[in-house]
Amino acid sequence: MLTTELKSIHEEMIEMRRHLHMNPELSFQEVKTPAYIVAFLKQHGIEVREKVGGRGVVGTIKGDQPGKTVALRADFDALAMDDEKDVPYQSKVKGVNHACGHDGHTATLLGVAKVLSQHTHLIKGEVRLIFQFAEEVPPGGAIDMIADDCLLGVDAIFGTHLSSRLPVGAFNYTIGPMMASADKFTIELFGRGGHGAAPHQTVDPIVLSAQLITMMQTVISRRINPISQGVLTFGSVHAGSAFNVIPDKAMLIGTVRTFDKEVQQLITEEMEKIIKGLCDAAGATYTFEYTKGYPALVNHEQATKLLIKSLEKIVPKEKIIEMDPMMGGEDFAYYLEQVPGTFFNTGARNDEKGITYPHHHPKFDIDEDSLLYAAQALVTVALDYLNQ
Ligand code: MN
Repeated sequence: MLTTELKSIHEEMIEMRRHLHMNPELSFQEVKTPAYIVAFLKQHGIEVREKVGGRGVVGTIKGDQPGKTVALRADFDALAMDDEKDVPYQSKVKGVNHACGHDGHTATLLGVAKVLSQHTHLIKGEVRLIFQFAEEVPPGGAIDMIADDCLLGVDAIFGTHLSSRLPVGAFNYTIGPMMASADKFTIELFGRGGHGAAPHQTVDPIVLSAQLITMMQTVISRRINPISQGVLTFGSVHAGSAFNVIPDKAMLIGTVRTFDKEVQQLITEEMEKIIKGLCDAAGATYTFEYTKGYPALVNHEQATKLLIKSLEKIVPKEKIIEMDPMMGGEDFAYYLEQVPGTFFNTGARNDEKGITYPHHHPKFDIDEDSLLYAAQALVTVALDYLNQ
């Protein structure tokens, strides 16, 4: 669908991607990038709303016939790291690098916008283009853009991520949970310090920490339903500084990952029960801080099945591969809490060209053929959704 038209602007998408790659901006500091997007959309006569939720841009393309509204989303922030690629389009900003492919997401959606705006007779309803700031750093931009009505009237949403795990020309989809929620917790245990030779006069937060870490293992193994999944990891444990001193306090930091809000809730409750119970028994006090990251990203079944059919029009069936859920996070999850839709991966790896570095690596790059595949996928699924 519109394959020829998209092919004819492939070079332009590559140019835009390289422009964005050379001029990356950090999350919550994007200024030039949204201005670039706005200018391009206006140039093509597309209705634009600026500063949505802060730094987001929303474009609207109305079809010639009435119908539903489908949203397509691209994120546009870069990472705080150097670009170590030896390429003509290397980042011109020291310490900032599009090392996750968001430059490609944005260039793709701009290309999609241009082509769709020239073919409104094929659109039954409306295509909403959501250009989102700050995906990389929680709380992320999605939540503020949603609060600022970017999803108002939207019936379904689709988004894609370019993936270095997947060869160019292939796609990944997942029905149901695709990415986990990623939360952080900090526990402080306050005992009573003293001489290492007189433990009976102290409340030892180190012994208490050891008990706590051990007992916390039963939250996953004995409290949540074995059919559900969860991870509880202590990533940092600090207490004491001398061999013969019992310290006053201990600090434990870690992460919880789940695919389900009820499991997440159960884990936090069980954690607090254990902390409180052990502290009461030992005569210690505590603080327990639990910070929620992005929620789990859960793809809707119907929308994903529609996507698979759309992808079958673009590539052979064997290139459309079901993917296991991953424990990474992505704030596209917020959109899927509001409206049906699906998030999928577009292959951007190319072993022959040496484009093999993983996301967030200083030499990460994409095979730019992926822009065309991603654009075809988004155009096809959007039109298929509106025409079903
Ligand atoms: Mn990303």
